[in-house]
Amino acid sequence: MGKRRAARVNRGRPSSFSARKLLAASIPVITVNHRGAARLRGGHLWVYRSDLVPPTDAPAGSLVHVRDERKRLLGSALYSSSSQIAIRLLTSDAITEEQLPALLRERVVSAIEFRRHVAHDTDSYRVIFSEADLLPGLMLDKYNDVLTLQALTQAFDREDLRQVVLDCITEHFPRASVVERVDAHIRELEQLPARESQLIHGESATTISTLNGVRFHFDGLGGQKTGAFLDQRENYAAAARYAHGEALDCFTYQGGFALHLARVCDSVTGVDSSRPALEVAEQNEQLNRATHRSGEIEWMEANAFDLLKDYATAGRQYDTIVLDPPAFAKTKRNVPTALRGYKELNLRALKMLRPSGVLTTCSCSFHVSESEFLEMLGSAAADAGRRVRILEKRGQAADHPPLLIVAETSYLKCVILLVM
Ligand code: SAH
Repeated sequence: MGKRRAARVNRGRPSSFSARKLLAASIPVITVNHRGAARLRGGHLWVYRSDLVPPTDAPAGSLVHVRDERKRLLGSALYSSSSQIAIRLLTSDAITEEQLPALLRERVVSAIEFRRHVAHDTDSYRVIFSEADLLPGLMLDKYNDVLTLQALTQAFDREDLRQVVLDCITEHFPRASVVERVDAHIRELEQLPARESQLIHGESATTISTLNGVRFHFDGLGGQKTGAFLDQRENYAAAARYAHGEALDCFTYQGGFALHLARVCDSVTGVDSSRPALEVAEQNEQLNRATHRSGEIEWMEANAFDLLKDYATAGRQYDTIVLDPPAFAKTKRNVPTALRGYKELNLRALKMLRPSGVLTTCSCSFHVSESEFLEMLGSAAADAGRRVRILEKRGQAADHPPLLIVAETSYLKCVILLVM
């Protein structure tokens, strides 16, 4: 592994010119074909394995120099020996293993500083968003005083790099605990040994996190995804600005939208198929009821597709509906099926809204583009026989900024519609 090589070369050597030259010389070089080179020159950070030119025998997780077939340097990257995404570019310069820790520290610090400008009304936000912070393969979320770290690549699983990142974040958030969250599927893809999520710094993995003044229980060692849905933070507030009357929040999870709606609506029904999620939603309700006015909230365990069908058939009506389903399109091939699923939900919701009713509808499928999503909504509105105005087209909260050209960093669509 690269880390072993780096440790061996660094030990006790003066950083003389010749030592540095030796180090630079020891960096593996990966050659990419014209497609890979065009991708990097066009501003993307990834090269797929199919665009590498053999030999490709760099160690798992190592720093590599990337060149085109004419031996021109394209930059320095982190290499994965197993993922289809073989190359994740770090910089257009040729850097050494010796320079890598300082570069990572600099990137972590600027990610932290950026959030100080964009994350308002919250003690919880994404601190490091992988490619979008030029730290491809690294995620860090802050839930009040609990930080959750995710290493998504062989490189960020390296003990030396994890330590650099950990030292840097504990220095900037001295009172926070750090939980390492493990995605078993990703570790498999990266051929990393299985590991459990665990507390790696501090005392506690649980806390209370506050978004827009609404409080949520957070457990860094439980819950799906990374616990709460930080990418929706600004959309919760936006949905609440238009919400009124009787509200229905489908796919509520632990009550993200429902608890925001409850502050302005007469009643809210939060629907999810997961009982454990609804149990936390109910605890979150208690947490907020103590300090804030709230409309009636009912938590309902149900399949949202069946429920919407039954309610639409029965002529039930609402003033506010939120749809925030899980990603239906996990791959490009699934897009047509996903769009049919989205259409079914949105069509029924549009039918059930009273005049001046508001639908906040989301998709977190990266493979479904915003234009496909809007087109689907148009066709759902036409079939529902409703004329609909777009109030807002939104995306991820500002602490999840997409990186231009790296389309994969832009995945969340949130459209707020007014039924006329
Ligand atoms: N709106 C939530 C996040 C939703 S995540 C928030 O802002 O926090 C998607 C949720 O959909 C999960 O909680 C999952 O349990 C639920 N879910 C998945 N399929 C479902 C179905 N068919 N019916 C109802 N809920 C479903």
